Amino acid sequence: MKPILTDSYKRKIDYLRLSITDRCNLRCIYCMPEKGIQLIDRKEILTFEEIIKIVQILTELGIKKIRITGGEPLVRDDFLKLIKEIKKIKGIEDISLTTNGILLSKYLSELYELSVKRINISLDSLDPVKYREITRGGKISEVLKAVSNAVNTGFISIKINTVITDMLDSKDILKFINLTLNNPVDIRFIEMMPVASPGSIECSNTGSIINKDIAKLKNNTENSVKEIFSIMGKTGKYHKVKKHTGYGPAVYYKIEGSKGNIGFIFNDKNYCSYCNRIRLTPKGMVKLCLFSERELDLKRKIRSKASMEEIKTDLKNFVKTKPENRECGRNFNNGDIIKISNFMSQIGG
Ligand code: SAM
Ligand code: SF4
Repeated sequence: MKPILTDSYKRKIDYLRLSITDRCNLRCIYCMPEKGIQLIDRKEILTFEEIIKIVQILTELGIKKIRITGGEPLVRDDFLKLIKEIKKIKGIEDISLTTNGILLSKYLSELYELSVKRINISLDSLDPVKYREITRGGKISEVLKAVSNAVNTGFISIKINTVITDMLDSKDILKFINLTLNNPVDIRFIEMMPVASPGSIECSNTGSIINKDIAKLKNNTENSVKEIFSIMGKTGKYHKVKKHTGYGPAVYYKIEGSKGNIGFIFNDKNYCSYCNRIRLTPKGMVKLCLFSERELDLKRKIRSKASMEEIKTDLKNFVKTKPENRECGRNFNNGDIIKISNFMSQIGG
């Protein structure tokens, strides 16, 4: 019988979000403070060998799909070598990548050869000035080149993740929608999660706009979503896509005749009942939910030479404690900021 990792709510866990670094070459306003964050000491970051060993163990327990993320995964020197090695692990069926796209172009053909056929690229505005502002310095031409090269290379899934900020205006929305008309690219408009790491709520200088006015943020999102639908309607006839490939929580729409789809990810939808994922942070902590404070320290286990059997037992027991719902004790919708123990870039978004 095939190994299956299940939690106590009978959810089958077969998807790992693997964050390979906390380093990043951008400083997106909703994700990182302008001056960056206290970086994890290099000695504390999982080595190449440790990552492979953990993925091997997880695969033997039933993990089949892996999304490589970060921080910015492409700034880790051995990221291609890691993917090459992960690909060799028996049981891995799908390797995908989430990146800001800045360094992506030069790796596309190798990624394609390695069967990384699903790429999510984060791009919050198509306006170069706004993009630079949101990312605090990013050069949009690099990302656009990557998107266009990815289309030409033939990746089966290219998704653009667009977090809704107050800089998203109708011009931008139209450009994003037009992108889906002629390109096999999906755009996903993502409601910003009102998350903040400890200390950042008190500190007005984190750069995190969410700290300032949650109600305003909620309002902006609602207005933007209304505007997106209005522009979709003016662009063409659209319908909801019933079945969409992918494992994520997005709801998709398609404008008739378009090659790509337009998706939405909202905070107030409860995706937990079919959540199939766990996360591994660069420090080697397994997390069962982005909003859970509880972690299983696999690095310590691996470094203390615990046996494979012991690690597997610990993992199985830990997964049984996966919370039924967001274990943060707070509700996204009542204006709370959700405190998480680390910045998103340290956990892996
Ligand atoms: N650096 C890569 C990137 O930007 O794609 C991978 C890591 S990043 C943390 C993963 C995703 O998390 C990005 O699409 C980013 O927009 C998203 N993200 C970060 N902070 C967020 C927030 N507060 N709300 C919603 N999405 C967020
Ligand atoms: Fe870096 Fe991604 Fe966070 Fe932007 S969202 S700062 S690119 S980790």
